[in-house]
Amino acid sequence: MTDRRNFLRLSALGTGAVLTAQACSEHALVESNPTLQPETAPAMKETPIVVSTWKHGITANLAAWNLLQSGGYALDAVEAGVRVAESDVENRSVGLGGYPDKEGKVTLDACIMNEKSNCGAVAFLQDIENPVSVARKVLDETPHVMLVGKGALDFALAKGFEKRNLLVPEAEEAWKKWMEGSNYTPPPINTENHDTIGMLAIDSSGRISGACTTSGAAYKMHGRVGDSPIIGAGLFLDSDVGAACATGLGEAVIRVSGSAMVVELMRQGHAPEEACKIVVERIINKLGDMTHIQVGFLALNKHGEYGGYSVYNGFNFALKTGTREALIDCPFNRKW
Ligand code: ASP
Repeated sequence: MTDRRNFLRLSALGTGAVLTAQACSEHALVESNPTLQPETAPAMKETPIVVSTWKHGITANLAAWNLLQSGGYALDAVEAGVRVAESDVENRSVGLGGYPDKEGKVTLDACIMNEKSNCGAVAFLQDIENPVSVARKVLDETPHVMLVGKGALDFALAKGFEKRNLLVPEAEEAWKKWMEGSNYTPPPINTENHDTIGMLAIDSSGRISGACTTSGAAYKMHGRVGDSPIIGAGLFLDSDVGAACATGLGEAVIRVSGSAMVVELMRQGHAPEEACKIVVERIINKLGDMTHIQVGFLALNKHGEYGGYSVYNGFNFALKTGTREALIDCPFNRKW
């Protein structure tokens, strides 16, 4: 299993990576590619742009970038991008290979949204490797926004998706080990057992889109749905303003309509990082005891400015533009 606490090691982006100062965060890791420019403060506004949560965002961004750099549609780009994380069998928090719920079932949540505020979502979906593409079909081919459970699976099968066992032996083994000592109590959300991918992009025509996909909290109750497929919680955007997505304990994010709130704060004039910080502080004020509760937000405004903020240290996001590629360490409220 990937040690998520080590994701900021320089080796994460290959040998020769350099550490530079970065406007909206404490540090950025910039690939030692001479064509890439180190970050300077304040963050340049540059489009097309794609940002996505966590280290797995680095490769996901590259898939999105393939489309963005050739004038492709941001909605296609975010779908293609997060599919990479969904299909990564080593990724224990998204799609194939994700940790199961307490019954040993891998259940997936995903949503996608475009610049016209059209959206599609699936929740509690089993046996389908790429839930974001099912969500895209909900957006494109139904009058609805969200399908769940068997209805979502039946829809996916009718649209030609194939069933696949998503529980890989390593995740099954971890689940069985957890069963032995857990007393059937789900573990807290921490740096080890979650990591949704949320991706936000603006294409060369200025169209903004976002996607969010997860296998959710490890060993959750069967039937539990977190924030990730919920428009307004795990993802929200308004093309007049910008976009935001969330990661961490979904129950905490839902309670404050987290991503919608970040977008509304940007509408009021707050910079992306500041908007994320205000919502994190609101969660802290509401919940009080934040023991083991991590939440992070990532935001991108319509001008291409970005930022993130989290309850605890350790949250980061990947950035890709025509001139910049970085893994950016977000500021936080407190240390683990
Ligand atoms: N937000 C996800 C959920 O609550 C967890 C995560 O970010 O990994 O399902």
